Formats: sequence, structure tokens, C-alpha cells
Amino acid sequence: MRFQTYDAVVIGGGFYGSVVGRELRRYFDRVLILEQEKDLMQRASYVNQARVHQGYHYPRSILTSLRSRLNFTRFVDEYGGAVVSEFEKYYAIARTFSKVNARQFKQFCDRIGAPVGPAPSRVKALLNPFHIEETFTVLEYAFNSAKLKDLIKAQLVANDVEFQLRSSLETARPAGRSLRLTVEHEGATDTIEARYVFNCSYSHINGVLWRSGLPLIPMKHEFAEMALIDVKEPLKGMGITIMDGPFFATMPFPDRNLHSLHHVRYTPHHSWLDTRDGGYLDARKHFASHRPASHYEHMIKDGIRYIPSLADARYVESLWEIKTVLPRSEVDDSRPILFRPVDDVPNIICILGGKIDNVFDIQSYIGEFLGAEGAAR
Ligand SMILES: Cc1cc2nc3c(=O)[nH]c(=O)nc-3n(C[C@H](O)[C@H](O)[C@H](O)COP(=O)(O)OP(=O)(O)OC[C@H]3O[C@@H](n4cnc5c(N)ncnc54)[C@H](O)[C@@H]3O)c2cc1C
Repeated sequence: MRFQTYDAVVIGGGFYGSVVGRELRRYFDRVLILEQEKDLMQRASYVNQARVHQGYHYPRSILTSLRSRLNFTRFVDEYGGAVVSEFEKYYAIARTFSKVNARQFKQFCDRIGAPVGPAPSRVKALLNPFHIEETFTVLEYAFNSAKLKDLIKAQLVANDVEFQLRSSLETARPAGRSLRLTVEHEGATDTIEARYVFNCSYSHINGVLWRSGLPLIPMKHEFAEMALIDVKEPLKGMGITIMDGPFFATMPFPDRNLHSLHHVRYTPHHSWLDTRDGGYLDARKHFASHRPASHYEHMIKDGIRYIPSLADARYVESLWEIKTVLPRSEVDDSRPILFRPVDDVPNIICILGGKIDNVFDIQSYIGEFLGAEGAAR
């Protein structure tokens, strides 16, 4: 059993935890990231659609759209080495069941200043006019998660941020003015003392709180399936998103040189809520023990109705993850971020990012929080 001390410990080496760890080095000498997997960024930061949002996706949340517009440029600047821009991107508006029509979508894009134009006729010809009202050309990119991991890892090394892999935070409890953490690492239990803990464990945030006897944060979790498919030309060089309702998107998944297929109706298999009054399911155990039968057949059958040439796609495999959002995202499909010190234990701070590019919003929260705490060295 080892005993270590740090100024700040970050739970979770996803994209958020890694960026948070890097930011914390501005304020502290000794920063440690604990990651339960065998490498950084193996969970939601890998298992996602790889879309660098530019606002188009959120016509029902102007704030999220505008933030996305700003963050898009910044993400492309800062993580350009992981950004894939060499594909055409289209948003097609469904005729029925869409919450916006084509005119409203165009107005919305103009309002947030997002580039939008008519799709070429060769692209419109790929979509079923019976189901699609209008198709627009937009400017949106994808990211290669493996390259993003390499970039952020290099930054951690350059900034002397330590990270321990295969290390699972079990409990974090107050001990005087500090926190005492128990960590499982390759069959052994280590103890760490830290001034601050930043809980960036995404779907497991409440698991850490629960095991530590701390109050939960209301969150919604979805057991999500994203299919990887090999599409034929001309879909290969394209990403197409059908808006805005129970539809789907297929776009490049750069790390595998495949396309993802993500369906609003079939990607979530089931969902549950963590509540303040004790509603809780152990996401770690549930994820480890549960693999439902794939919904791929449903996804592709529905996809073919809108894009008939998807019939030529070859299914490769499904990636699974628990997708976690704040309950208010249910109302307007927004992706707000959470930055919340735990009640009565304010040196444990929980951070949940709704999408990859929101990470820039976190940086200012950290500065404000630690500035107010007078914690800077
Ligand atoms: C199906 C799906 C599609 C999505 N599509 C997009 C998209 O196209 N674009 C976009 O911007 N966003 C998308 N998102 C959202 C995006 O993936 C997340 O917002 C983002 O990855 C969150 O990053 P994170 O670092 O908080 O989470 P994670 O990457 O999950 O990191 C949390 C880390 O904590 C670790 N951990 C958990 N518990 C412990 C513990 N006790 N001890 C140590 N380590 C622990 C985990 O192993 C994990 O590595 C999607 C999400 C899903 C699930």
C-alpha cells in the first residue's frame, strides 16, 4: 500500500479530465490524473460521433449553438492536428416529425452566423424526396479521437502532469482540510491525500459520490450503441445528418476510417435517472455486466428510408457507452456543462461536459473557482 500527496487529483482521464489536469498545473505544483482504463480517452471521449459541433445540431438551444460556434474555431485552432475537415457535410430536414422545417433551419443558421447553403443536386439525389424536405451544405468537421489523445498526452507530459492508468478511485472523503482518497491499482489499495479533487468521471460521477457517501447530482444516463459501418462511394466522403427529431446521422469516424451510424431512436437502449433522493444505478457495474442485443438492423433499415444507398453499407461493429446528460438537456436538447463543488465538501468539484468542445468553457470556471478560493500558488 502506497501513500502519496498531491495538490489536486483529477478522477478520470477522458478529454475533460486531461484538459482539467493540464489547466490545474497553472495553479498547483503537484497534479495527478487517475484513470481506470489502460490508457487515456478510451471511454466517451472515444465512443462518440466525433463531431466537432458548430451549432447546427441545436436549433432549439440558441445558447448552446452560439457557444458551439465560438468553440468550433477554438477547437480547430488548438487541436487542428486531430481535426478532419476533408469531407462534405450536409444537414437534411425531414418532412415529418422534425421539430424544425427547412425555412426555420435556414433562419436559425443565419441567426447564429453559421455557414449554410443549398446542397448540390448530386447530393439531393441521394436523399429520398418523399422523406426529406430540403438539404443544406454546412461547415462541420470530425475529430480523430486517437490523435486527440496523443496531443493531450504530449501536453500533460510537457506540463509535468502525472497520470496513473489502471487506477480506479474508490472513495474520496474529507480528512481535516484535505481529502483522503482510496485508489485500486492492479489489485492493491493506495491512499492519496489531496487538497482538491476534480471528479471528471462522466457517467461515473455519481458512482464516486455514492461510494464516498456524498449527495448525488441529478443526471440522466442512456445505455448507448453507436454502429460503425463501411459505406461505399459517394457516401464515403460525406457526413449526413437528418434533422430534427427521431432521426440519425452518419459521418466519418476518423480513427477507424469508417462511418458512425448514430440514431436518436435506436442508439439509446434504455435510460435511467440519478436523483438527489437516492435514485441510483451503479453505472460501472451496469456497463461491465450488460450488453443488449444490437439495434443495428433497426438503425440501418430506418436509414435506408432516407438515404437509399445506405443499403450498400457493411456493418463492422457496435461501440457501446453510457451517455450522460443533465436532466435539463431533455427539454431543449442543449448541452450545458456542470461545474459543481459538492455540498459541504467544496474541495471536491464535479465536472460534466455535454460535448467535446465545451471544454473551453471549463477553463474559465476553474480560474474563477480557484481565484475565489485563493488557492493559486
Ligand atoms: C454515443 C455518444 C455520442 C456522442 N457524440 C458526440 C459528438 O459527436 N461530439 C461531441 O462533442 N460530443 C459527443 N458526445 C459527448 C462526448 O463524448 C462527451 O461529452 C465527452 O467525451 C465527455 O468527456 P469526459 O472526459 O467527461 O468523459 P470520458 O471520456 O468518459 O472520461 C471519463 C473517464 O473517467 C474514467 N473513470 C470513471 N470512473 C473512474 C474512477 N472511479 N477512477 C478512475 N477513472 C474513472 C473513465 O474510464 C473515463 O476514461 C457523445 C457521447 C456519446 C456517449
